[in-house]
Amino acid sequence: MTARILVVDDVPANVKLLEARLVAEYFDVLTAPDGNAALATCEKTPVDLVLLDVMMPGMDGFEVCERLKANSRTAHIPVVMITALDQPSDRVRGLKAGADDFLTKPVNDLQLMSRVKSLVRLKNVSDELRLRAQTAQTIGLQETARVDRPDEPGSVLLVDGRASSQERLTRALKPIADVAVISDPQAALFEAAESSFDLIIVNANFDDYDPLRLCSQLRSLERTRFIPILLVTEQGNDERIVRALELGVTDYIMRPVDPNELVARSLTQIRRKHCNDRLRASVQQTIELAVTDDLTGLHNRRYLENHLKLLIDRATTRGRPLSICITDIDRFKRVNDTYGHDAGDDVLREFANRVRATVRGADLACRFGGEEFVVVMPDTTPEMAAIVAERLRLAVESRGFDIPQAATVLNVTASLGIATLRPDGDTAEALLKRADMALYQAKNGGRNRVVAAAA
Ligand code: GH3
Ligand code: MG
Ligand code: MG
Repeated sequence: MTARILVVDDVPANVKLLEARLVAEYFDVLTAPDGNAALATCEKTPVDLVLLDVMMPGMDGFEVCERLKANSRTAHIPVVMITALDQPSDRVRGLKAGADDFLTKPVNDLQLMSRVKSLVRLKNVSDELRLRAQTAQTIGLQETARVDRPDEPGSVLLVDGRASSQERLTRALKPIADVAVISDPQAALFEAAESSFDLIIVNANFDDYDPLRLCSQLRSLERTRFIPILLVTEQGNDERIVRALELGVTDYIMRPVDPNELVARSLTQIRRKHCNDRLRASVQQTIELAVTDDLTGLHNRRYLENHLKLLIDRATTRGRPLSICITDIDRFKRVNDTYGHDAGDDVLREFANRVRATVRGADLACRFGGEEFVVVMPDTTPEMAAIVAERLRLAVESRGFDIPQAATVLNVTASLGIATLRPDGDTAEALLKRADMALYQAKNGGRNRVVAAAA
């Protein structure tokens, strides 16, 4: 992992010490002797993380942090405050100033590296998501996704083998989160997969169960892979902590648990989770917009062309049949000419509904363009495809289409062409072409009919 870290401290010896350790881990290190220099550096160079001394003459660390977080160009940079005294009040102040984490002097090597790596990793994820959301915005697909909303309460799953600590930790977290408690670590895995938690706190205090097993399982399940994990662990067990962080545990806290620190670390994780969830949702929405046809809600041509290739590859490797059907509404231009474009749109929407209602869940229905639709049917022989196409033809012909603006009901028909994948080296283009030629024959043969391409 390579990242650029800015070390801010007024004592040159402290700067040198941190710099040497970070350089030894191949980080790219910048330094600043005071708050103003730190702010200037963050403004003009991309910085991935700031290690910030609290006690500095002039502008202290709290103020530097506040200013970084108030500036939209630097607000996303994680800040780790380094406090001289192990004072809970300093930690709380640091958090209020927007710090993401804190370390106590003298800085322990394991803590330094694990906090730095974990924050850099999280920043990489958010940077990537931020970038994608930004691209979506640039190409005009959606409005800006607001990511800096006020805190919403988090939902936390506490996995803890002992009633006494369950009670203590729940009480500490109450002001910031809804806490669900579970004693059995295996049951916790199911609980985590079924609900949607923002944070899982694993208290390593089970008599005969290795908590790292649960952490590793949480990381491998699709549904829980993005949920941060905070491990509560014993002092002086550095190797276990290193192992836990390698497994993907997001953060850890030592016993005896300081309630302020627990709240601080939990809040950081919950905030980050909320922010990434929003970014992820906006990226997801962008993808959906890019592959969906606005008018009908079916997949669009771009999606079809990409996805058909995958479906063909799969059918070929598994030796399974695959058929497609192209359908085109008959004399559709007349609908527009007679009743107007909006009435035409109504017909297209209703037509799409009938396509949707006729095909199976595994079939892919798309609007191919204008008044042409394509249905891709995996695992479907030519005989079955002919039955489905005929069913679709009837679904259109048998019931009139409502045109509310013209207070009328229209009779609509469609022509359909079907084709089936050939066993050797058939392509999406060739398959679509054959179906299109069959459709052309259906039109020429008098419309309102199904024609199958020669195998
Ligand atoms: P045929 O039976 O040969 O298919 O005749 P047709 O009139 O259906 O075919 P043609 O290709 O001549 O006309 C298609 C019409 O579909 C022309 C176009 O204006 C209309 N059309 C394409 N997209 C839309 C749309 O999104 N909304 C509406 N209302 N009309 C559309
Ligand atoms: Mg037509
Ligand atoms: Mg047409």
